[in-house]
Amino acid sequence: MDLRADFLIIGSGIAALRAAAELAGAGDVLILTKAEPTEGNTGYAQGGIAAAVGAGDSPELHGADTIAAGDGLCDERAVGALVEDGPRYVRELIEWGARFDREADGEPALAIEGAHSARRVLHARDATGREIGRVLWQRVSMLARVSAHAHARAVQSRYYRDPRLDSPPLEAHLTPDTSHLTRRAYALGPYHVVQESHRLSPCA
Ligand SMILES: Cc1cc2nc3c(=O)[nH]c(=O)nc-3n(C[C@H](O)[C@H](O)[C@H](O)COP(=O)(O)OP(=O)(O)OC[C@H]3O[C@@H](n4cnc5c(N)ncnc54)[C@H](O)[C@@H]3O)c2cc1C
Repeated sequence: MDLRADFLIIGSGIAALRAAAELAGAGDVLILTKAEPTEGNTGYAQGGIAAAVGAGDSPELHGADTIAAGDGLCDERAVGALVEDGPRYVRELIEWGARFDREADGEPALAIEGAHSARRVLHARDATGREIGRVLWQRVSMLARVSAHAHARAVQSRYYRDPRLDSPPLEAHLTPDTSHLTRRAYALGPYHVVQESHRLSPCA
């Protein structure tokens, strides 16, 4: 098996799959995930996803609710990114086919829960994460530049600065249960996996 990619993503949850969809516009993407592709927290998240998409709601209000509920524990920059970008990405999920619960008029049903002061929580029945994972996986599966390998677990990673790259390259040590991937040396972008050690090293 000969694998080549510009980007290596470890995992296949919501973060990994959304990143893969984006990165496929810039190069070949390889996803290694330790179990079945749908296994992970994303598939178990039965609650909802909050975003200021309703009439009268705003990122500012969502941010204020979040900071208040966090009681001093929130990273305000992270909260800012979450509430500002949330509506765009939730609308994108709907465009990509996420079947969130809807009102009789067809608009997404928005619940008010917990510390939220506005109706802003979208659900897909009681399996919201599984639905989001389904849509992202479907999206990524259509992209020719993305390939995924299940039961490929990275057990250790180290980062080196490579003068050819702005960002540090990754060294991943793969477990023996990925031996079916490493019958021969293979390459991940500018790196290759050496069969004997299962070690990912920079190509000469
Ligand atoms: C029961 C439950 C209910 C939840 N309810 C909600 C909710 O209502 N609303 C909400 O917003 N959030 C909820 N969450 C949290 C939400 O599920 C997570 O925040 C979100 O799914 C994290 O996504 P992720 O992509 O970062 O991680 P994950 O979905 O966990 O993905 C991690 C991926 O990495 C893979 N992986 C891990 N280690 C390795 C390795 N060494 N090598 C290769 N692959 C590896 C895993 O197999 C998996 O594919 C809930 C979580 C749980 C468990």
